[in-house]
Amino acid sequence: AKSAGRRTYRFFQPDMDAQVTARRLLELDLRQAIIDGALEVYYQPCLGLQDNKITGCEALLRWRHPERGMVSPAEFIPIAEETGLINQIGEWVLMTACAEATTWPDDINLAVNVSPVQFKSGTLALKIVSALAESGLAANRLELEITEAVLIRDDEAALAILHQLRDIGVRIALDDFGTGYSSLSYLQRFPFDKIKIDRCFINDIEEPEGSSCIVQAVVNIAAARDMTTTAEGVETKQQQQLLRALGCSEMQGYLFSPAKPAAEIRQLFFSHAKK
Ligand code: C2E
Ligand code: CA
Ligand code: CA
Ligand code: CA
Repeated sequence: AKSAGRRTYRFFQPDMDAQVTARRLLELDLRQAIIDGALEVYYQPCLGLQDNKITGCEALLRWRHPERGMVSPAEFIPIAEETGLINQIGEWVLMTACAEATTWPDDINLAVNVSPVQFKSGTLALKIVSALAESGLAANRLELEITEAVLIRDDEAALAILHQLRDIGVRIALDDFGTGYSSLSYLQRFPFDKIKIDRCFINDIEEPEGSSCIVQAVVNIAAARDMTTTAEGVETKQQQQLLRALGCSEMQGYLFSPAKPAAEIRQLFFSHAKK
């Protein structure tokens, strides 16, 4: 490994070299974080747009770094994926979140993000089965969020895994819909239960030349194929109203609540239910 490192070293620009070093350091820190228990799962509630009831929560990883403070998952997930650490981390998130969700009211579901690396690992179905068994969470309360990245390249293999997961009884959501290689044909070929419409389409939904017609189209396709839709990143009342009018099923965003620690979320269920 050392000689390979030396061989590639020459091709790096000085700033690239610094970047590589920074990534290595982050990787080491991340390994230590797993040992130290510095990772935490936060939960962001998701609301029905018609009745304003909490329908579920998405588990979102947090890293409390001793010097850097909170490190965003957007920063460390890619490194965890490159190094394969995501398998270990992802399994821990799944176990932790499933156990937490058993303390919630029965009608509140749990959504967990699954990295393409986990998806392709060949052991995902097994890990899901054991997380459900160990926690006692009903399979139909668990939703896995996957991105299109798992669908490209090997259709057949991806489809086989999706069917395996379906057989377990968990639901599957297509995350970040509309970004990346997004192709409408994915919606036809793969068995999703839910489409999560990416924040970028919600941002400008109120503008005259904005994305409301795209959101409308996605909502229509989803309805025709018996899927529900969740709008991500809803920050204003106006966005909420427009999404409701467009027939979108659920919303998630800072307007109602950001992701919060487990204890705060439990309190929120209680106070929200009383209203
Ligand atoms: P994502 O799955 O698309 O999650 C939504 C992100 O949007 C979260 O960022 C959430 O905090 C943020 N968000 C929610 N509502 C709003 C809003 O109203 N406005 C804005 N501006 N942002 C909002 P977060 O928690 O930083 O996570 C970033 C990404 O990291 C996630 O994107 C997901 O791809 C990944 N991630 C987080 N936790 C996990 C995990 O346990 N496993 C895997 N594989 N990936 C994870
Ligand atoms: Ca997600
Ligand atoms: Ca998303
Ligand atoms: Ca995203």
